[in-house]
Formats: sequence, structure tokens, C-alpha cells
Amino acid sequence: MRLTILGSGSGGNAAVIQNNGSSILVDSGFSYKLLNSKLKICGIPPESFSAMLITHEHEDHAKGLGAFSRIHRVPVYINETTYKGLMRITRKDIDANVNFFETGDVLDINGIEIKSFPVLHDAAEPVGFSFTSGNKKISYVTDIGSITEQVVDNLKNSSVAVIEANHDVEMLLNGFYPAFLKNRIKGPTGHLSNDDALKLIQLIRCEELQVVYLTHLSKKNNKPEVAYKKIFGPLAESGKHVPEIRIANQDEVSEPYNL
Ligand SMILES: [Zn+2]
Ligand SMILES: [Zn+2]
Repeated sequence: MRLTILGSGSGGNAAVIQNNGSSILVDSGFSYKLLNSKLKICGIPPESFSAMLITHEHEDHAKGLGAFSRIHRVPVYINETTYKGLMRITRKDIDANVNFFETGDVLDINGIEIKSFPVLHDAAEPVGFSFTSGNKKISYVTDIGSITEQVVDNLKNSSVAVIEANHDVEMLLNGFYPAFLKNRIKGPTGHLSNDDALKLIQLIRCEELQVVYLTHLSKKNNKPEVAYKKIFGPLAESGKHVPEIRIANQDEVSEPYNL
């Protein structure tokens, strides 16, 4: 498998997992134009996509879904509650090739076993995904407000974990966001902080875990260097196996990671 993060943050999220010459898009939170230019930068042909998966209906995860699916004839895999949530937001049929899964289902696409699992977030029925091929596993959870047992169980034995490190609690509390927004972000259905991300990594850490991507960093309430220091520091001091920590950027496409 090969993982490329096209961009991550409140301005849009999308990642590509390639296997056996075909590609899967995980979230589609950029306009059609931007998504295409990002794919061009990393040399992934739009015709190579055999599926699109959507975690939840928020714009930064589902924006370019309809156009990309229609133009490149890519089937969309989504749970029905999320689809209905998306219809409410867009107020029109996205007219895409939609395939409903039930949260918890295991799909088999491109020789990858894809499992969806529930996460806590203020969306209709948000999910995380794990992608397993042979003895390699990529897990993907952004936009979760709480570390649940289900999240930890589904992230265990990952080779690569894509997780959220949205905000630094101090920066959020001292920042200029109104109280209701601060409460939403740090609440149980909001977003994970740097401290939460560290806790999650500690819970899923194993010898197989090679890389952790920190994603969905807030431009206002976090900084890459702050997240790195708060998360890598305690991991390195623990004396246990330390995965490489990479930080996904909102505007730049990541280097592909082969596993
Ligand atoms: Zn969200
Ligand atoms: Zn988001």
C-alpha cells in the first residue's frame, strides 16, 4: 500500500491509499479543481480511482465528492445517515454513484480490507476507517471528540496511524475564539487536542507502528512545532518503541509513504 495525504485541516481533508495500481480516496474535502491540482502534484491519475470513502458530511471532508465521483465515475462508499446529512447540507442530490455501508461493515476493495467503525463527533454518523493488506494496516481517524474503546481497538496493530491533533489546549483556551466554539472544539464530540493525540498513540503503540501522521491541525489553535514537541517529547522519553511522527499540512501534499 502507499499513503499520500493531499492536505488536512479545517480548510479540507483528503488522503489517497494506492494498492495494485488503483487508488482509493479517503474523504474529499477540497473543491474539484483543487483536488485535481493536488493529484497532479503527486502524479496520481484521477482515472486510477476505484472508490471514494467519506468519514462524515462536514464540508471539509465531503466538499468535492459529487463532482469527482460524477466526472471520473468513481463509486462513493458512505453510510446512509451521513449521506442524508450531506443532502441536508447541500440541499440537492449529489447525483453520484453511491454505495451504502453499515458502520462496522468490512469492504474489500483493490485487495484491501476496509473496516469502518464509529467515532464520536458532532456529525450524523461519523466513522473512522482501517485498511489492511497482508500484514500491513493503515488506520485513519480525524474529527473525533473522545478516545473510545472502539477507536483504540480498531487502531491496534496499525503500521501507520493517521490521527487528529487539532488543537493545543493552552492555545485554544487563551485564544480569541468565542466560549461556545472553544467548548465545541474541546468537548466530547469535538476534536482531539495534542494531549489527546499523545494519549491515543500511547494506547496503540506497538512494534509494528512505524509512522503516525498528525492531522487536522488548527491554524489558529495549534502549531506544527508545538504539536511535535508535546507529542514526540514524551514518547521519546518513555524508553519504548517510538514511531516516526509526521505532520500533515493544510496546503501541501505529503511525501508518499510506502508500506
Ligand atoms: Zn467534522
Ligand atoms: Zn474536519
